[in-house]
Amino acid sequence: MDANIECLMIQLFNMKSLRDYINDAEGRRVAIGHFNISNLEALWAIFRVAKELNLPVIVGLSEGERDFVGVRQAVALVKSIREEYQYPIFINADHTYSVERVKEAIDAGFDAVIFDGAKLDLEENIEKTKECVAYARASGREVLVEAEVGYIGTSSKVLDAIPEGVKFDDSTLTSPEQAERFVRETGVDLFAPAVGNMHGMLRNAPEPRLDIERIRKVRAAAGVPLVLHGGSGTSDEDFREAIKAGIAIVHINTEIRVAFVKTLSAYLLAHPDEVAPYKVMKEPTEAMQKVIGARLSLFSGR
Ligand SMILES: [Zn+2]
Repeated sequence: MDANIECLMIQLFNMKSLRDYINDAEGRRVAIGHFNISNLEALWAIFRVAKELNLPVIVGLSEGERDFVGVRQAVALVKSIREEYQYPIFINADHTYSVERVKEAIDAGFDAVIFDGAKLDLEENIEKTKECVAYARASGREVLVEAEVGYIGTSSKVLDAIPEGVKFDDSTLTSPEQAERFVRETGVDLFAPAVGNMHGMLRNAPEPRLDIERIRKVRAAAGVPLVLHGGSGTSDEDFREAIKAGIAIVHINTEIRVAFVKTLSAYLLAHPDEVAPYKVMKEPTEAMQKVIGARLSLFSGR
């Protein structure tokens, strides 16, 4: 859709923008849930649950998830729901490792993009993030740009050990000074720090605890809303404290994947003769809804 028509539609239906919803969540000390999809089942699961709870929601797709669903197709799917139901459901290009793919997502109509330069040195991360922000601002739409400082791993799997390169000390956790400088120099809208969180979830061990005091200091220094990645496996208590300390968006991926695949394999074993995909997918979709519902309730303080 043409950018001007889209602006007009938002005015016409008096729909608030993603930025408005994030600011509103921060003001009420709650967080918006961000859930990843790689199929239509997950998208419907997220929308149904969010609508039932009457909460705004963000759908995310990593580079791999985007390649599977289709970059423009993902946007078309989410927007079709937003328009048909007049519902605040937004789409984010999760972890994007090149400026080219950030531009591709902005061109396709994503509401928000994440440039992930956490593995680069700080100077290079700042330079590339600036390029992404400039491109977003020139798009004629409001596209939020998020970036990260501090390495927290890259997988959305069940892991046997903490990923290599992820440490929970000052060498990899984000400092308030880094956050302040990074946001000031790049002009990003959202900032994802490393505060004891990690991507993926551990098989046989509790997740590391979040550094709540660091979240508070980083939020104050950054001056923009914070996003917590790698939420899967984190305790309810840590989530509550982290949100109170300044987290405005929480990412959940691995937990949904686990619920989907486990339920799907159990269903297939129990029903070897069922060949209708929409029947096979019913229980796995319900399993995802259960995870999403529990997390959304928690994040919204219910
Ligand atoms: Zn993430």
